[in-house]
Amino acid sequence: MITKPRGTNDIIPGEIEIWQFIESTFRQVCRDYGYEEIRTPVFEHTELFLRGVGDTTDIVDKEMYTFQDRGDRSLTLRPEGTAPTVRAFLENKLQAGPQPVKLFYWGPMFRYDRPQAGRYRQFHQCGVEVFSAADPAIDAEVIMMSMDYYRRLGLDNLALHINSVGCPRCRPVLHEKLREYFSPHLDELCHNCRTRYEKNPLRLLDCKICEDKHTEDIPTTLNSLCNECLEHFEAVKTYLDLLNLPYHVNNHLVRGLDYYTNTAFEITASHIGAQSSIGGGGRYNGLVEVCGGPPTPGIGYALGLERIILTMREQGCPVPATDRMAVFVVNAGKAAEKTAFKLMFEIRQAGIPADKDFLNRSMKAQMKYAGRINARFVVIIGDEELAESAALVRNMDTKEQTKVPFDQLIPFIKDKY
Ligand code: AMP
Repeated sequence: MITKPRGTNDIIPGEIEIWQFIESTFRQVCRDYGYEEIRTPVFEHTELFLRGVGDTTDIVDKEMYTFQDRGDRSLTLRPEGTAPTVRAFLENKLQAGPQPVKLFYWGPMFRYDRPQAGRYRQFHQCGVEVFSAADPAIDAEVIMMSMDYYRRLGLDNLALHINSVGCPRCRPVLHEKLREYFSPHLDELCHNCRTRYEKNPLRLLDCKICEDKHTEDIPTTLNSLCNECLEHFEAVKTYLDLLNLPYHVNNHLVRGLDYYTNTAFEITASHIGAQSSIGGGGRYNGLVEVCGGPPTPGIGYALGLERIILTMREQGCPVPATDRMAVFVVNAGKAAEKTAFKLMFEIRQAGIPADKDFLNRSMKAQMKYAGRINARFVVIIGDEELAESAALVRNMDTKEQTKVPFDQLIPFIKDKY
């Protein structure tokens, strides 16, 4: 038997309901906040991620699914949604339309990671991106929106961490401070951190391996910010306070991606094991330019759907039941089968979900099956019903049975359904 590739998942009936619930809830939140959907290809030119995600990140370093196509182009299955959205924003000239541009996406992402609970090679993210707004109120909106989404899913006990990673003007000051701090300990750092020391010292702060070697006096992002960045950060906090949204300022929170500026945030759930981050985001005022566009502020987030579902299961969040099958048409005997078949389609065309037997089962077995699929009504047609042009309608909940002429059947069911 051929099995699914490592790190991927099937989502089968019985599991799909929670996916449909979290998707429809996300769409509702996006509508409420004025965001429009964008769909981009699942693969892009590799160059987009090299530039847009940055070649000192783990994603680009070792996690991309990159391949040459038959035309010898280097393509990559998207590992994240921001760079593709920026590309599409520019390519479709969305900057020429009404501003700001508020977009959302939903879909599979691909990273060649070591699979474990909550970490997969194909996983799903939903996210938003806002272009052309530098106002700190938008940072607060985006953060609030993610928390509002979790709340609507019934999640609680989540921790929101926020930080500011500064801008290209204050970043060099921080880089210098970090190099100074780490230079006496270079040989104690992991291999990756030694590269980061040269290329992107900011990321020395978020190394899980070297974390225990950091002392209290490690330079932080906040005490290296320029006045403008500090003001922006204070304003974001003021807006969050206005919304009564609790947060922790986490001085060492730096997002893994190079293009982030100013606000960085992450949401964690404590009970789902090592992979506790269920979402994160931040501002990326440098990215649009890096991707070949004019200087354009941007901010967004991406939330991990598998981890949201793990957390919902952990917290016992209820998922609304999906619609029941309304009608199962049972034919008692061969003679009624064609009438049952035709009737089923008429019921469906009236917008009422309906099904029937396709395995030539006995009437008893059909009734049992109707019970198993939890049909609300069973419409029974046997010889007697054929002769009378009327069906026996059984309400499966109350067990009440009514004889209804064929031409009254649809209004009868509509009335009760
Ligand atoms: P990132 O794009 O790395 O900022 O990740 C955003 C969110 O996506 C994380 O908070 C996780 O919830 C989720 N995520 C990232 N990588 C994976 C993965 N390999 N498997 C499952 N979820 C992931």
